[in-house]
Amino acid sequence: MTSVSNVPLASVIRLAGSDLPLTAKLVYSLIVRKTLPWMVKHSLIKDDRAQIELVSIKITDLCNLRCRPCAQWGEHGYNLGKSLKELRAKELPVAQYFKLIDDVVKSGTRPFWYFWGGEPFMYKELLQVTGAIRTARMHGAIVTNGFKVKESAAELVQQGWDLMYMSQDGTHEIHRQNRPGANEKFDSYQMLRDGTVELVEQRRKQNKKFPVVLTLTCITSINQHDLLNTVLDAQSMGIDAMVLYPAWFTTLEDGLKHEAEFERRFGTKPYMWKGYVADCHDVDVAALKEELRRIQADPRVKIPWTLMPDISLDQLDAYYHDHGDFLGYHQCFYPWTYTEIQPNGDVSTCRDYGDYICGNITQNSIYEIFNNERYQKFRKSLREDGMMPICSRCCGLMGF
Ligand code: SF4
Ligand code: SF4
Repeated sequence: MTSVSNVPLASVIRLAGSDLPLTAKLVYSLIVRKTLPWMVKHSLIKDDRAQIELVSIKITDLCNLRCRPCAQWGEHGYNLGKSLKELRAKELPVAQYFKLIDDVVKSGTRPFWYFWGGEPFMYKELLQVTGAIRTARMHGAIVTNGFKVKESAAELVQQGWDLMYMSQDGTHEIHRQNRPGANEKFDSYQMLRDGTVELVEQRRKQNKKFPVVLTLTCITSINQHDLLNTVLDAQSMGIDAMVLYPAWFTTLEDGLKHEAEFERRFGTKPYMWKGYVADCHDVDVAALKEELRRIQADPRVKIPWTLMPDISLDQLDAYYHDHGDFLGYHQCFYPWTYTEIQPNGDVSTCRDYGDYICGNITQNSIYEIFNNERYQKFRKSLREDGMMPICSRCCGLMGF
């Protein structure tokens, strides 16, 4: 079935049908913000000017882990070999983020905020930034591997921070195997568990409902047989809901096609796709489906969980083995509704494949950049020439 929407409807219904209305409300609001403005305005009047609904900030490139499937620090990661000192040096000072928040407040809009990295808590002033966002009565999410979360939990709860995505790729040993530390002795699982448990505990102590805590599990050949155990393990930490996702990836063949297509459209060669080249064929899809069915059927599983992208188990074969199949997701809204800021302030149209830079927030306001000629050129290209080869397994297309 062809769909112009990437709304993971079944996921929303599952979460909404749970006894966790806060989780459902948050997920609903993100999906609506991503898709509705495009559907109402841009599809009808072909307008390439837009309003920002979500500001996504990759606040640092640095990370304390070296996760196997990671496009930045994994086997083919595009940050490997770069100087850590230089990566740190190019980060924006916190004052620049205060200015950004100020610009947003003055504009009268109230986008949602999303922080990722690298590991976002490696940006030392992260809590100052989230605090300023909450003071301005805006909302946001952080995706983290658990670094410094235990130490930050009380303050995050006090701030009323909305949403924490905790990356958990398995039970203790499997998680460590999938997510080794930059330093081998490092126990990435214990760090994640301690942080998650502390968040839930602080919420209880302070009698608060936020942040909602979700775990994100990236499915790989290493953890695919451990998923039921992972769900039960995450549940034992007191989390609110869980997302399981087959890794975002590209093939070498489609990556090269993308490189040529991007150059034809925009005149430069992209490089970020190289970090996403993965041989996901070593996932045993038949066994994975069985594992997911076991989760569906197991009465011990009480927390709501969902597969993202929202595809049927039957579509998993195509997901892994037919990269050119868009699985019904034929329209990406991301460049019309969400914007992406990189650690040095560069603004790009896409989160994972941020090769197309439209400006820098140290030179222009985010609003000037978001509707400048270059940004609109990218939108027009998507509208007229369609999606690019790497789009078929991109979180901008299929995630929320
Ligand atoms: S925690 Fe995230 S950024 Fe760091 S290595 Fe793992 S996947 Fe990559
Ligand atoms: S790479 Fe493609 S699918 Fe991903 S956000 Fe950009 S346009 Fe959308």
